[in-house]
Amino acid sequence: MTLQLGEFELIERIRRGQVVAAGSRTILGIGDDCAALALRPGEILLATTDMLMDGRHFLLDLHGAEAAGYKALGVNVSDIAAMAGLPIAALVAVALPRDRAEAVGEGLNRGVRVMADRFGIELIGGDTNAWDGPLVISVTVLGVASRQGIVTRSGARAGDAILVTGPLGGSLESGRHLRVEPRVELARQIQELAPIHAMIDISDGLVGDLGHILEESGGPGAVLEAEAIPIHEDAQRAALAGGRGALERALGDGEDFELCLTMSEAGAERVVAAFPGLRRIGWITADPRRLIRIGGRFEPWPAGGFDHLRAGCGRGGIATGAQA
Ligand code: ADP
Ligand code: MG
Repeated sequence: MTLQLGEFELIERIRRGQVVAAGSRTILGIGDDCAALALRPGEILLATTDMLMDGRHFLLDLHGAEAAGYKALGVNVSDIAAMAGLPIAALVAVALPRDRAEAVGEGLNRGVRVMADRFGIELIGGDTNAWDGPLVISVTVLGVASRQGIVTRSGARAGDAILVTGPLGGSLESGRHLRVEPRVELARQIQELAPIHAMIDISDGLVGDLGHILEESGGPGAVLEAEAIPIHEDAQRAALAGGRGALERALGDGEDFELCLTMSEAGAERVVAAFPGLRRIGWITADPRRLIRIGGRFEPWPAGGFDHLRAGCGRGGIATGAQA
């Protein structure tokens, strides 16, 4: 079923209905990459959850259960990275296809373990079910905030530089979306060099996710510089095969799992000099328009960004992508 309401409007409705009790430990609830809970002074727990479905986020028959398990944990670790946090523990809940439950369950676990070991994450629990439907895996990751504190989506200010941690686009076509590289270390190293005002991981596409930063930051605008956007070779290759151009793919494709962040121009200069992969791609403006400078011209951003509830009508993620 495709709802008329978009994914983000639905979440917004849920968010508006949320009641925060007096004395709540919730520092950050619905609306960011992770929720944040205050435990003791100076100790902040991060929590995030993401569900992956066969046919939408991976193709079990093509990619195998191990790849699905690796990705399922990786996308959650990426949300911890987006807060500049450190992942510590994971819970894994699965609905296994009944006819091959054991093999799929074991394969998933192997993939989960590989990602968990990379980041020293402990698997502390989960839930196992089998049914006649396709494989579904839901992972919850807990983490802790850095000494400097959490980085939300809501701190972008006019005059900030916008940066990304790596090249973008074409991850679905190449299968790179399965090999998530969460930028946990890099986010923390950047934060040690300069205060990060706002940050998000790019799961829905650069313009979609930078759009979330703008909305959560009280509605400033942004100018992107087309020549500065790092375009992944996967996007170049996919563009050669036809359809959308490489820049359009870098701007709109999802599942890169690089980080998009904003900070002062002085901070940006320092971190770009320190980390070669990091690129300054534009700046935040008081003017609410969302523009891209291509050559000498300013144009509105192309439509882009992934919406799960609308996916049936447009670009449809992996199930309708050029993946297979
Ligand atoms: P991300 O892409 O970083 O995983 P999402 O776009 O999935 O973030 O979610 C945005 C925010 O909405 C997050 O804070 C998430 O926890 C929250 N959220 C999503 N779906 C629900 C839901 N059904 N109920 C409550 N909160 C939700
Ligand atoms: Mg995220």
